[in-house]
Amino acid sequence: MADQTFRLFIAGEWVEPSKGGYAVVNPATEQVVAEAPEAGVDQVNDAVAAARDAFPAWSRRTPEERGALLHRLADAFERRIPELAPLVQAETGATMRVAKTLQVTQCAVRFRRYADLAKENHDIPLPPSVMPNTALAKGGLIGALAARQPVGVVACITPYNFPLTNMAGKVAPALAMGNTVVVKPAPQDPLAVLKFAEAVEEAGLPPGVFNVVTGSGADAGQALVEADIDMVSFTGSTPVGQRIAESAGRGMKRLLLELGGKGAAIVFDDGDLAGAVAGIGSTWSFHSGQICTAPTRVIAHRSVHDQLVEKLAAYAGHLKVGDPLADDTVVGPVISQVQRERVESLLEAGRQDGAEFAVGGERPDLETGYYVAPTLLTGVTNDMRVAQDEFFGPVVVVETFDDEDEAIALANGTAFGLYDYVWTADAVRGYRVARQLRSGNVGINTVQRNHEAPFGGFKMSGVGRDGGVFGLHAYSELQSIVWPS
Ligand code: NAD
Repeated sequence: MADQTFRLFIAGEWVEPSKGGYAVVNPATEQVVAEAPEAGVDQVNDAVAAARDAFPAWSRRTPEERGALLHRLADAFERRIPELAPLVQAETGATMRVAKTLQVTQCAVRFRRYADLAKENHDIPLPPSVMPNTALAKGGLIGALAARQPVGVVACITPYNFPLTNMAGKVAPALAMGNTVVVKPAPQDPLAVLKFAEAVEEAGLPPGVFNVVTGSGADAGQALVEADIDMVSFTGSTPVGQRIAESAGRGMKRLLLELGGKGAAIVFDDGDLAGAVAGIGSTWSFHSGQICTAPTRVIAHRSVHDQLVEKLAAYAGHLKVGDPLADDTVVGPVISQVQRERVESLLEAGRQDGAEFAVGGERPDLETGYYVAPTLLTGVTNDMRVAQDEFFGPVVVVETFDDEDEAIALANGTAFGLYDYVWTADAVRGYRVARQLRSGNVGINTVQRNHEAPFGGFKMSGVGRDGGVFGLHAYSELQSIVWPS
């Protein structure tokens, strides 16, 4: 792969980067996967201009035409899966199970979902209303429609954990609704997204409808947010989201912000402990905890605390850490040396604050790779940084509660509000607690998803909703059209 050339995709052309290239590193081997293009600010602006030029014609296409083109794009992408799966695996360090399923096939699923949804009519008919005579106009029976219009040029800025899937979750609904896009993938793993543009070309999307720019630092993303765009759809960390919101606010650009999380997992005394352990254990076993929705913060009823910790420790202790290409590996590396250092320094803060390491705490003894051992911290209280800050790594912390109100207060006691979980045998209690959690999503006795449900955050976890038809509507503006009958 190291000899492959990657270029920017702007206005339907493959463009040499004006600032050269930078190395994309395999997090397991620490070898260079390939050079990624370093776009200049002028090239970011070129991509935005191309998207602006393409917008009128693309937005006027019928929804059926757009849907058909998105299905062709999904077909062209699927033909590339044998090439893209190893590439995205190498640049993300994901285990093969994660690479093949969530990194790749979900991308096609998302394009097909929005290709189909594009064909439905999403306008909202309103009943006619009898309006009185006013100084403004004659009264009568007045009809109205809330029509959904595309927003315009959308900047799609994505994080490193699932480069193709995150990109698809933005680009598919944005294009289906009639917007045009400029994609800016994460610096750590942009290669498969650049390759994805080959499928865009093959499917015959008009030039400028889909553009990709990449860069090693914040410059390309920052330039994109400041450019002549109409909306920023951003998934990433809360501090970067805040910066984007400040900048976008000046130009009144529309925002969809999917930010960080610190998922609470409340386990009641009647909860299914085996189910809770499997769910909470996904923080270790699924993509090394690099998932915003992970149930990383256990809030255990005092009566089941010891038993739960024992089971969690046994679970974590059996997970094989190492080469993501090996069939029996469950925990691969985190994305980079920088990310491992972030996780390790937060663990050190936990040590200083008096948290106990029930499992983990040492760097795994492997020759290469940015590995963090599955770690379980007990004796944690909400005033500790390990209870408040996001690890984005394979670390679970455990707190204790005595009654329901305390559990809810602890769960709500962080700046985040993305995804919480409740384990209880009492359905009424599960529902009652869910309704009091200040969180965009709540799983009761499961970490499973429903992809048609709205997805997004309360508080510092974001603004707006992805998911199902809500994701499509996020890329629209409502326009009222009014007429006399
Ligand atoms: P990050 O915020 O560091 O980077 C995300 C993207 O923003 C990258 O493409 C980056 O280059 C770009 N960027 C950085 N500075 C910028 C700036 N000033 N202007 C514009 N763009 C800029 O996040 P990350 O480390 O890639 O991903 C991890 C974070 O993402 C975690 O906080 C995680 O919770 C969050 N995340 C959230 C969701 C969700 O759906 N809520 C999903 C996945 C990840």
